[in-house]
Amino acid sequence: MTMLKYDPEICEKCETVDCLVRCQYMQFDLTQAKEEKLKLLAGESSRVLEGCATCYACEEYCPNNNHPFYLIVDRQEELSTWPVPIPLVKQQVKMMSPKGKITPGKVNTPLINLCFFPMLTGCIRGRLFDGTSLIEGSDIFCNIMWLHFAKNSVIRERLPKIIDTIQNNYLAENGINEFVCFHDECYGAYTHLAPAFGIDVPFKTVHLFEYLTKRLTVLKKEITPIRATVAYQRPCSNRLIPETQHWVDEIFNLVGVDRVEREYDRENALCCGTVLRAMQKDDIADDLQKRNLDDMQKVGAAYCVFNCPACFFTMKDMVTERGITPILMSELCQLALGQ
Ligand code: SF4
Ligand code: SF4
Repeated sequence: MTMLKYDPEICEKCETVDCLVRCQYMQFDLTQAKEEKLKLLAGESSRVLEGCATCYACEEYCPNNNHPFYLIVDRQEELSTWPVPIPLVKQQVKMMSPKGKITPGKVNTPLINLCFFPMLTGCIRGRLFDGTSLIEGSDIFCNIMWLHFAKNSVIRERLPKIIDTIQNNYLAENGINEFVCFHDECYGAYTHLAPAFGIDVPFKTVHLFEYLTKRLTVLKKEITPIRATVAYQRPCSNRLIPETQHWVDEIFNLVGVDRVEREYDRENALCCGTVLRAMQKDDIADDLQKRNLDDMQKVGAAYCVFNCPACFFTMKDMVTERGITPILMSELCQLALGQ
């Protein structure tokens, strides 16, 4: 089994314990945070294991890149503190397993990896994606959603196989060494989680935002500014890769929308609520969805921009009911291009 790369001594000496003090779903003063952190380091149970909403945010909050959330998930699994009911976990692990239906084929760059979202194939169209090719399906599903299910073991087992599948059936065959990740989760898996788990990644990945920024720059003369106020729903998986955030602002500038300052954006973003419902914590999910929607409405957002398909499918109807149009980031770019 690959071991998580973290240094317990760094945590023992940590004076701020940002990972817990800044948590939006549990309350700790500094003394309590230090106590709970020491329990986690010692492999003991802690109220963190039951209270964690699996929002991934502490991976961003830790100033030392010492992987507090990955450690929580390891401890949850070791101590059988399941955040989601076990029958649901078993069903999901089976349902989302690789199906072995790989059809190696001719692909070219730019190559878009759509992960396990075949329903979004229609998004890859028009001038924005001119000349691209596409891969998708269960056999290239990055599998890091198991962080929400206390199942790091499934990630450790499946992710190396997925990496092999991509490398040997699509990239090496076609002399390619990189692809564009349509979903934050895949980019987070290959650039953040895999190194932390000691899993080798032989290829380079490009975040969708970088691809969109470059394409919009090339197509600048064809853009008609949208001129609207938008709220951005930052996905949990982007907490693993905050270095990609500047592209959100660049894309919004290019398409002429205003990412108006609001309370629950950037480092203070709120979870969409999907996982909290799976955890049967409906009261918490109701509360955070209401606060998030009130915040979007208060700033007069005309669009709510999503990059995560799961956030989109969870929140699209509730934002619509507030008079706000839900839209995926790539579709926002298509709108600016008149496509
Ligand atoms: S995980 Fe990071 S923030 Fe938390 S105690 Fe360790 S070093 Fe400090
Ligand atoms: S993952 Fe989110 S809810 Fe869990 S401890 Fe970290 S910040 Fe708190």
